[in-house]
Amino acid sequence: MNFDEYPLMSQIKETKEVFWINSKYECINISQSGGLSIEDIQDAEARLKRFAPYIETVFPETAENGGIIESPLAEISKMKTSLEAAANHPIQGRLLLKCDSHLPISGSIKARGGIYEVLKHAEDLALAEGMLSLKDDYSVLKDNRFKEFFSRYKIAVGSTGNLGLSIGIMSAALGFKVYVHMSSDARQWKKDLLRRKGVTVIEYSSDYSKAVEEGRRQSDLDPSSYFVDDENSQNLFLGYAVAALRIQNQLKDMRITVDEAHPLFVYLPCGVGGGPGGVAFGLKILFGSNVHCFFAEPTHSPCMLVGMMTGLHNQISVQDLGIDNITEADGLAVGRPSGFVGKTMENLLSGIFTIEDSKLYKLLSMLADTENIYIEPSAAAGFPGPCLLMNSDEGKDYIKAMGLWGKMNKSTHIVWATGGSMVPETIKMSYYHKGKTLIAENPCNFQKI
Ligand SMILES: *Cc1c(COP(=O)(O)O)cnc(C)c1O
Repeated sequence: MNFDEYPLMSQIKETKEVFWINSKYECINISQSGGLSIEDIQDAEARLKRFAPYIETVFPETAENGGIIESPLAEISKMKTSLEAAANHPIQGRLLLKCDSHLPISGSIKARGGIYEVLKHAEDLALAEGMLSLKDDYSVLKDNRFKEFFSRYKIAVGSTGNLGLSIGIMSAALGFKVYVHMSSDARQWKKDLLRRKGVTVIEYSSDYSKAVEEGRRQSDLDPSSYFVDDENSQNLFLGYAVAALRIQNQLKDMRITVDEAHPLFVYLPCGVGGGPGGVAFGLKILFGSNVHCFFAEPTHSPCMLVGMMTGLHNQISVQDLGIDNITEADGLAVGRPSGFVGKTMENLLSGIFTIEDSKLYKLLSMLADTENIYIEPSAAAGFPGPCLLMNSDEGKDYIKAMGLWGKMNKSTHIVWATGGSMVPETIKMSYYHKGKTLIAENPCNFQKI
């Protein structure tokens, strides 16, 4: 295939950082995309409410929020000052961090989609068996008769780590037999933690796509086994999309307006696409043309970027372009994007930027120093977003094309921190020190973000 017509392609192949603006983006209000609408998101939210009494009893850390799995939206003014100093340029508007790094139960954005999909499957099974009705108090699900019932069923998933944690912890708590197929990038501590919970972990020496393929194959051979399909699952996607309803309320509580005069910018780290895609889809349904969503990917795993830019979606992988898909951002180490997400977001996503691994560490150290918040490398990928938007030619052109020049001082930027609170203390500190060392070695390189 010849991709010379794409001006960014040679830089992408050389794993240089790029900022791609989606030429197919339409600044419009929508009521549906890919056949999914607000009703589907509300249905998912209602299901999570039905399960709240159960979640509250089984995971006491969710009790203060009544069994609803949600994370804080925090203003990070000190981090903003540090970013401005590093980029040598002001960031107009407010800078907020969505702390999915600190979601209860599994400490990453996967606690939205992954847990939701397991709950949906459990509900479907129990309803079909006549053991449960929609009006019941779902805390009965912790009874032994339900555990015994669910133990007759299996759940399987392929994962780079965090999806496995979410699916594994939730499925094991309900009583399912769980099989997590882990790619080579998955961190050892994630595998160890799952094994301690009674989950069967199968390890692969190849990347995420292979782990998914093999997991699916084994699961399909067994009629009692349900495969969580990270690439194509609408349930997973809707579980993520519920975040938009929740953040709408959090913004209201903070008295932050989103309208034509007050644009909202959201920066989401992207792997296969389900997490950031689901969240961005929900935001576009709720805020329409007033929200602008950008994905962030490692320079060595820009799968959604090449899929959306070429329009080939899941018909192209980064390996097809000679890119190795090797990154320390384990949650983003995906070589082939979800075609379903790429197509659903085709006209809704504003753009995608890529980031070098070394910057992920620098950014997570900066966040720890300024705000005392610790996140994992993948979760820091969104931080260059506000600087790129205001500093780069691509960003400035976008702002002007959208008629937002002059409104930026009334804007809000949300960087989505997608994981980190489950990282063991020693590893957390090694990430932090690695970032400090990299900043000490090369502070200048940082001014380009
Ligand atoms: C999985 C993950 C993402 C991206 O989600 P996808 O659905 O794979 O795109 C981002 N950050 C972290 C920490 C993750 O674990």
